[in-house]
Amino acid sequence: MKALTWQGKQKIGLMNVPDPRILSGGDVIVKVTTAAICGSDLHLYDGYIPTMQKGDILGHETMGEVVEVGPLVKKLKVGDRIVIPFDLGCGKCHHCKEEEYSACDNSNPNPLILDKLYGQSGAAAFGFSHMMGGYAGGQAEYIRVPFADTNSLLIPKGIDDEKVLFLSDIFPTGFMAAENCNIKRGDTVAVWGAGPVGQMCIRSAFLLGAERVIAIDHYNERLKMAAQCGAETINYEEADGLIDELKARTGGRGPDACIDAVGLEAHGHTVTAALDRVEAAVGLVTDRCDALRLAIMACKKGGTVSVPGVYGGYVDHFPFGVAFGKGLNFKMGQTHTQKYMKPLLDLILADKIDPSFVITHRISIDEGPNAYKTFNDQKNECIKVVLKMH
Ligand SMILES: [Zn+2]
Ligand SMILES: [Zn+2]
Repeated sequence: MKALTWQGKQKIGLMNVPDPRILSGGDVIVKVTTAAICGSDLHLYDGYIPTMQKGDILGHETMGEVVEVGPLVKKLKVGDRIVIPFDLGCGKCHHCKEEEYSACDNSNPNPLILDKLYGQSGAAAFGFSHMMGGYAGGQAEYIRVPFADTNSLLIPKGIDDEKVLFLSDIFPTGFMAAENCNIKRGDTVAVWGAGPVGQMCIRSAFLLGAERVIAIDHYNERLKMAAQCGAETINYEEADGLIDELKARTGGRGPDACIDAVGLEAHGHTVTAALDRVEAAVGLVTDRCDALRLAIMACKKGGTVSVPGVYGGYVDHFPFGVAFGKGLNFKMGQTHTQKYMKPLLDLILADKIDPSFVITHRISIDEGPNAYKTFNDQKNECIKVVLKMH
């Protein structure tokens, strides 16, 4: 089969690789119909995530048709259409039973690195390095889905792939980030980063009752997309003093909640951001956290900072004293995707939201390597790339 593979920093290869096979009784094999490239795939592309190996199949936003079913699978049969969550739960451990699927104790067969780095390893993810399990991803013609009863959402007939594909990651991720803001009627939520996850945060915040959402980015096309659903926008390159601007727009108090949907590759313009770049260049820090710092500074006292943006290691110049002094609440982490897929599918079926609004590019797998470059280089026009596989 054809697959998009990681070949080193900023090198993606279209390769012919062996088809996946059933390896365990709970597996299914899926013929991929549609997949997407995620902002977090760019962290791999840019070489920020360790333990990638040449030839690893990328992709964690995937859906398709079940073509083979392991003997222990109970809920799926050949011909079913499913969306596959990006992170893998075993369905049986303490955390899976608590619906904390991204904290699954069993799905990562290579937990030792994260055990050492984090104290405990979380769940594995598709196509996201060997320390995250080394599972082949879904930017391929076929994918093996382990623990398939847990890691699948059955899609009813007659609904377009593009409407439901993002249940695999960015819609649940944006929704959980907004839910983590503990939004009350009348609240104002500020969202750093109007990329695909940021867009889902913005719409989810409105769905959860926010009165105002302020989108912050430096790409005008992304801000325009945010404005389409009623968000206010700030281009931080054009504003003088983002914190002052946010204060001015919120009666001097600051937003009730701030979401960092940027993560470890924040392109900041402050002194600490410049320091990050220098330190990252010489290997002193792994993550650049300018958006997070600004979110902490801007948030109202006693407010919530919610972080769906991906971080991997250590951050420097983290204003912990500010967070303490203001009594902020923090919520963060990888999405418990499986918990959200069904309720969010119901919102889509009820026409409350159509997540396909975020798609700007539709391509075939052959155009994949170029699409990574376009997505990386032209973040203004290229917001979400979808791969049509079959
Ligand atoms: Zn993703
Ligand atoms: Zn589990």
